[in-house]
Amino acid sequence: MARYTGSSCRVCRREGAKLFLKGQRCYTEKCGFVKRSYAPGQHGKGQRTKPSNYGLQLREKQKVKKIYGILERQFRKYFQTASRSKGVTGSKLLELLERRLDNVVFKSCFASSMPEARQIVIHGHVLVNGRKTDIPSYSVKTGDIVAIKPKEKTVKRVKDSVEKLKDRGYPAWIEVDKENLKTKITRLPERRDTAADIKEQLIIELYSK
Ligand code: SF4
Repeated sequence: MARYTGSSCRVCRREGAKLFLKGQRCYTEKCGFVKRSYAPGQHGKGQRTKPSNYGLQLREKQKVKKIYGILERQFRKYFQTASRSKGVTGSKLLELLERRLDNVVFKSCFASSMPEARQIVIHGHVLVNGRKTDIPSYSVKTGDIVAIKPKEKTVKRVKDSVEKLKDRGYPAWIEVDKENLKTKITRLPERRDTAADIKEQLIIELYSK
């Protein structure tokens, strides 16, 4: 599947927010957004015009797509599923994205960034309920056990990540066994469990045009 291979820091600067796409570096002063918190490109620094409503909606959608590392077609499918579900479409959209397997691996601190989590899944290092699952978009369910394959090299790499990220904390809907590199999904994520600074209403407005 196609994916964005350009500069991650450029994406954060474009969206005007830290999206934590580069692992450890994101938590240090080397962060590209900390060093240059203006839009990339020749005219980035001088941009003063107020964005239009459409511009705001578009940027919000792009931001969420980058946070979860997905492209337009897949994102639109999530939107369609959310709009067919019961409840508030915006909240449902974020809940569906949060349930992605690569996101669970990232939130469990088994990887220091979403791109790394996605790679761990694609390379077949993750088991769901004891079965190899190499689909990053796999949607976890309550009671699922997500575990890292007991392969020496992988376990070492993941344990390093867990150690480095030990202060980051875990969302309330998962229970992480750091020793055995296993995560239990204790309940499905809700809107309050996802990033507070996402304005999902702007995305709904954009797709409702
Ligand atoms: Fe974004 Fe991380 Fe780069 Fe900072 S270091 S700009 S948070 S990807």
